[in-house]
Amino acid sequence: MNFISTRGNQSYGIDEVLAKGIADDGGLFIPEELPYINYEALPAMMSLTDTAEALLDPYFKESILHSNLSQIIKESLYFSIPSVKILPEENVWFLELFHGPTAAFKDVGAGFLASCMSRLNSTETKPLVVLVATSGDTGGAVAAAFYGLPNVKVIVLFPKDKVSKRQEKQLTCWGDNILSLTVNGTFDDCQALVKDIFVDPKLSSRYRFSSANSINLGRLLPQSIYYAHSSLNHYRQSGNKVNFIIPTGNLGNGMACLLARGMGFPVGEIVLSVNENRLIADYLNGAEWLPKSSIQTLANAMDVGNPSNMERLSGLFGQADDLKDLISAVSVSDENISSEITRIFEKTNTIICPHTATASYAYSQFTDEVKMSQDWFIAATAHPAKFETIVEPLIGQKVAIPDDLLALLDKPSKTFTINPDIKEFEQIIIDKSI
Ligand SMILES: *Cc1c(COP(=O)(O)O)cnc(C)c1O
Repeated sequence: MNFISTRGNQSYGIDEVLAKGIADDGGLFIPEELPYINYEALPAMMSLTDTAEALLDPYFKESILHSNLSQIIKESLYFSIPSVKILPEENVWFLELFHGPTAAFKDVGAGFLASCMSRLNSTETKPLVVLVATSGDTGGAVAAAFYGLPNVKVIVLFPKDKVSKRQEKQLTCWGDNILSLTVNGTFDDCQALVKDIFVDPKLSSRYRFSSANSINLGRLLPQSIYYAHSSLNHYRQSGNKVNFIIPTGNLGNGMACLLARGMGFPVGEIVLSVNENRLIADYLNGAEWLPKSSIQTLANAMDVGNPSNMERLSGLFGQADDLKDLISAVSVSDENISSEITRIFEKTNTIICPHTATASYAYSQFTDEVKMSQDWFIAATAHPAKFETIVEPLIGQKVAIPDDLLALLDKPSKTFTINPDIKEFEQIIIDKSI
């Protein structure tokens, strides 16, 4: 299978796509055409990893990783992704994507990319250094995924005092091949440092830099697996195509579901839920695509003013007029996020995170007819214990912490503080001989 850039026609193989992250012309990689997977021809009983193999195989046919694909999948999808019915009388489930090591769905993509990159790099002489600027969740998932892997190092940069205490712990508890940097500045400063070091003449001759942010197709493709798997299971059990409501920010998570449906899996409607950063919702309702700076909300992992995967979405599926037929989007205010967390807790005794609450609120606004005549999965993107300062006051009790997360919170922290200055960044990379 060939991949092209959203900005040109040069074709790339999957291994290059994974290692580079972004095309040479600055565009995003997309498959030249989506493979079609006939699910009727698949075995009756499929585990999550079986579905993963069926879905990923066409993309990896020509990869040097092809013979290792099942092992890579086993390494990265070792936790469960259950669907949990919310109320006996309604056909709606939470699809729990947060049972990985850092308790958010980003563990799926980060784990897969890490397993691939570590293997791809085993024959290179220049060390591969993966850079991640993070506003909170991504850095933790990427660090957890790459920690201890041979042939690859990771530098995580996060803005001082702008991530929660628990997030900070997940960014700083690693050591070994993970270097954690606290930047005296904003998330934008962290991103700017990463951009600059990619073209730094002094260091680019010594290291190969890559990025593990969500525009890397190696994070996006594996996210299609849980949509493919859960829709297939649901279809086989009920005969119905299930609809999805998906909290999204950078359009990665929503895009992954569109890919699963595009490959032929029995996915019904796709509704995206966004927070007050409402660009996607407005665009699908006819407004122009005018990126803005992001607004801070309770669902902070979705605080994106300029969703970078839009370019990929258009490249694959077209502009607003075409997209309107494929997806819809709802914007949810902080007030409604809060009331939804409380409402769901009181009604069902389930505790949800603020991101999941955007999707759950979107569902609550449907008419009874829509609710009763169709089946719905709400993507539950993070464990509420990651956002305890928001959730606990709303429900009036403590949120129990999952064991994996608890184990991280007990580890000592190690981080180095730098100013948003490229010389300081260069120096610390050399000093720490990462
Ligand atoms: C990153 C994140 C999202 C948004 O995912 P996109 O890939 O930006 O669509 C939603 N919820 C949580 C908990 C996240 O960490």
